[in-house]
Amino acid sequence: MAQDLVTENLELRNQLEQLFRQAQQNQQILQRFQAFDLQFIGASSFLELLDAIFYSFATASELDVVTLALLDPEYDIRRILADQNIDPADIPQLLFLQDETGFGELSGQLRKPVLGAFFRQVHGALFPDPLPTPASIALVPLLRHGRLIGCLYIGSRDEERFIENMGTDFVEHTAAIVAVCLENVVNNERLKHIGLTDPLTGVHNRRYVERRLLEEIGRSRRQGYALSCLYIDIDRFKQINDCLGHQAGDEVLREIAGRIKEALRLSDALGRFGGEEFVVLLIDADLTAARNAAERIRQHVSEQPLVLADGQMLDVTVSVGVASLTEHDECEAIEATAQKLVARADQALYLAKQGGRNKVVAAD
Ligand code: GH3
Ligand code: MG
Ligand code: MG
Repeated sequence: MAQDLVTENLELRNQLEQLFRQAQQNQQILQRFQAFDLQFIGASSFLELLDAIFYSFATASELDVVTLALLDPEYDIRRILADQNIDPADIPQLLFLQDETGFGELSGQLRKPVLGAFFRQVHGALFPDPLPTPASIALVPLLRHGRLIGCLYIGSRDEERFIENMGTDFVEHTAAIVAVCLENVVNNERLKHIGLTDPLTGVHNRRYVERRLLEEIGRSRRQGYALSCLYIDIDRFKQINDCLGHQAGDEVLREIAGRIKEALRLSDALGRFGGEEFVVLLIDADLTAARNAAERIRQHVSEQPLVLADGQMLDVTVSVGVASLTEHDECEAIEATAQKLVARADQALYLAKQGGRNKVVAAD
């Protein structure tokens, strides 16, 4: 009898220990969830969120590969990346789809997570080279207000990791948080984009260029490279407005902005400063390089007449003032350096106008 009691006691003790271990494990999983949630929610930019998904989440959850497909019918998200000089080719984990048909065989199915073995023919495009090829995968739809906004693809080299009919609480929870956070950061970036864009021409506005100039001066001081500024003004623009009307003037502004942009590198920053004036920041360009860039712009604008919407041809030219920052005056406030740089380019522009227009003048 006494022996029975001892055995029962031992069994109960074992059960209790097992329950205790289970509770501890659950607590750990919960803490891990919460740590991710905080990291996802805390991401203040699109890139930070991508980083949290592709690296932190993947590493801590012991996943071999994580990719994200986003529905981007209006190219909004891709424009945001372009704005930040990010080449999507550098992020193979990020896939863009025009519409739901991009999900191929999976479209229509993707309202609930799909778990199972990886098949190259069906799933190959979801984990493109040079990413690792998984053995088992979970395809987790990202939904906002019942609408599919994308899909999170997670994969493991372990073929047992994701099997059909497995519980999906963990991935569904993650997907719900990721979907909300994605919507938030994309909306934030959209707002930033609107606030820093000139609605007429689609290039940046004055606020953007001024802000970027401060950043670039700081960076060029730290890294010791040259920075140049072009001040561009359309010649005799008032005449165009007066003779052909304000709308033709607007068309000319759009076309000239486009031609300036075509003559620039992706890393250069172009903004409409107001009226018919544009400012360009040339990163890592000394006075000679900047003068060449200015000359390229001047030629590209003047070499062919503009064709307006009504078919009218119009010869348009620009004058350009160039100034550079080569010697770094570390003691001066960045704001003062920025103002002086733009002012010197503006003075050089004035000389180009006096010199007869359709000219490039560099400040000494
Ligand atoms: P210059 O060769 O000396 O630069 O002569 P200009 O006629 O270009 O110079 P001015 O500064 O006298 O004229 C600028 C004109 O730009 C005046 C204004 O009517 C026009 N303008 C300013 N903003 C806009 C705009 O948003 N749209 C249009 N269509 N015109 C604008
Ligand atoms: Mg002007
Ligand atoms: Mg002008």
